[in-house]
Amino acid sequence: MALDSKIPKGPIKDKWTDYKNHINLVNPANKRHIDVIVVGTGLAGGSASATLAELGYNVKAFAYQDSPRRAHSIAAQGGINAAKNYQGDGDSTYRLFYDTVKGGDYRSREANVYRLAEVSANIIDQCVAQGVPFARDYGGLLDNRSFGGVLVSRTFYAKGQTGQQLLLGAYSAMNRQIARGKIEMFNRHEMLDVVVVDGKARGIIARNLVTGEIERHSAHAVVIASGGYGNVYFLSTNAMGSNVTAGWKVHKKGAYFANPCYTQIHPTCIPRSGDYQSKLTLMSESLRNDGRIWVPKNLDDVKAIREGSKKPTELTEDQRDYYLERRYPAFGNLVPRDVASRAAKERCDAGYGVNATGEAVYLDFAASFERYGKEQAKIQNISNPSEVKIKELGQEIVKTKYGNLFQMYEKIVDENPYETPMMIYPAVHYTMGGVWVDYNLMTTIPGCYAIGEANFSDHGANRLGASALMQGLADGYFVLPYTIGDYLADDIRTGKISTESSEFEAAEKEVTERIEFFINNKGTHSVDYYHKKLGKIMWDKCGMSRNAEGLEIAIEEISALRKDFWQHVNVPGTSTEYNEQLAKAGRVADFLELGELFAKDALLREESAGGHFREEHQTEDGEAKRIKEFQFVSAWEYKGEPKDAVLHKEELAYENIEVKERSYK
Ligand SMILES: Cc1cc2nc3c(=O)[nH]c(=O)nc-3n(C[C@H](O)[C@H](O)[C@H](O)COP(=O)(O)OP(=O)(O)OC[C@H]3O[C@@H](n4cnc5c(N)ncnc54)[C@H](O)[C@@H]3O)c2cc1C
Repeated sequence: MALDSKIPKGPIKDKWTDYKNHINLVNPANKRHIDVIVVGTGLAGGSASATLAELGYNVKAFAYQDSPRRAHSIAAQGGINAAKNYQGDGDSTYRLFYDTVKGGDYRSREANVYRLAEVSANIIDQCVAQGVPFARDYGGLLDNRSFGGVLVSRTFYAKGQTGQQLLLGAYSAMNRQIARGKIEMFNRHEMLDVVVVDGKARGIIARNLVTGEIERHSAHAVVIASGGYGNVYFLSTNAMGSNVTAGWKVHKKGAYFANPCYTQIHPTCIPRSGDYQSKLTLMSESLRNDGRIWVPKNLDDVKAIREGSKKPTELTEDQRDYYLERRYPAFGNLVPRDVASRAAKERCDAGYGVNATGEAVYLDFAASFERYGKEQAKIQNISNPSEVKIKELGQEIVKTKYGNLFQMYEKIVDENPYETPMMIYPAVHYTMGGVWVDYNLMTTIPGCYAIGEANFSDHGANRLGASALMQGLADGYFVLPYTIGDYLADDIRTGKISTESSEFEAAEKEVTERIEFFINNKGTHSVDYYHKKLGKIMWDKCGMSRNAEGLEIAIEEISALRKDFWQHVNVPGTSTEYNEQLAKAGRVADFLELGELFAKDALLREESAGGHFREEHQTEDGEAKRIKEFQFVSAWEYKGEPKDAVLHKEELAYENIEVKERSYK
């Protein structure tokens, strides 16, 4: 099948406007006769459901949690980008577009990214109108901070709870429509298959997770907004429930899956503490605005710290290696995530890791306490403040910015980060890969759409911080509501879709048989036993550093593990009650298939990109040589590279990267 991305013709900056001017529309009266299923009510699905219902469509929204408010989006801490240029520091739609494409290692679809940058400003207005309490500066205007890989401040935030506040906004908008009867909300329902009738997505099979009942639901279009699949690694910063099932089911029914192996490994997570851990915790990237990352310069100090005979605070400035500031002076601690993660791993692999497992670097706020403290002392007219007073004043400011994150760190690690530097290490965080979509956000199954983290289109091989919330809300509030109308305009006379067709029957039968298999198998190993084993293969052989031999072994190991799973998995309980293990069995079964595709994709890519090194690219003296194929789809965009966009040049010089340019139309 030839993939057609349906990118509109014309200059990139005019594409979206021209497109909107020429698409088919559905008139308000006809929208009342059209049903849309939205699977997922996180920021992407919640905003899409609310907007489609506001427009007049009949929406059926599904989530496996007990409320849309519990979607994984609630965990987002740091912020959301928008090219508002409120700081007057040189931001623009073009610069946000440029940063996103460059940050994604030139592997994003540029037309989608330009549109994303264009609508980003509307998102902030929409959310402020909903009452989202974004942080404000002293004068009452919306405040911004910086995230990695950019040279401007364009990130809007609500303390360390931005996702939660945005989700409350989307949820309120949904509730208005639920009350009007325009959204029918199916909480605690899990989509287990998509139903394709005459080549078009016409419904889903869902399981009521409380009663176990299998249900058929029909619609004129199906939207997948099911989030990311980082939990294929078992340990990740994702919510425990995040999974690939919805995306995988549409893939198995014919939707293409793109870039499965591009995973974002986030640099600032709380390090793993042992083998029995089931979850990793993110410390927001926003902390890199004020925290400095370092490891000791000398291995003797590393040893003393690990043994507990020295404290990090005892090391003088010249005994510390602020390796990001040393390597990348222009961006310093705010390099993009992939660069920061690779650098932390490189230092820890070289033996400089500062905790017992050797997998941790410091994130230190001492300099910020001092800087803010001195400023506050001036503001408050305190003459000759003592060092203790300065630190106290500085800590107060840091607390107002990141208080909840510091508290969370102390609860988990049992160390006070105001007194000793935090320890951080890279962890699986976001999946750039996902269901392939065209410019309309439609998959290769007509009438089936994918939005938010579930699709692949906007972030290439690496996502810049604060851009997932932007993409989810752009897709849901401002893009899908237009593009889906163009498709549904053909359906105004179709009438209700029946669920009594052979296609619904076949899909339901398959779902029911699989559930019965799990309950009746009475095997010897728990679902988690398999999930953990899969996660270990994925991290060791398909994680940050990969080689062909390891990937080939991973493919064999995953396939063998999958066979074992289908023979020996044990699922306790029954299918007619709330059964977490049963739900998880289905999700892990899909991870076991995705994992193999993931490894195959990684094997075929003879490149290092985003958070992934390909180890074969070693020079004779053992240094890693990274190969990048810069894919300039519309080369004209890059002719006038801004002078300050130096990161890739610094990186190329430092990491001995061989650049192969590849231009295609
Ligand atoms: C700890 C953490 C912090 C983050 N911080 C930021 C940040 O500061 N800024 C930023 O831009 N990004 C951040 N991200 C990324 C961002 O939060 C996510 O990419 C984004 O929220 C995903 O939104 P979504 O709507 O696509 O999916 P989700 O929020 O994951 O929602 C998925 C929805 O799909 C439903 N669902 C899934 N499968 C099924 C099924 N089979 N049947 C029925 N329903 C289903 C779920 O119930 C849920 O409602 C962070 C991520 C993490 C892990």
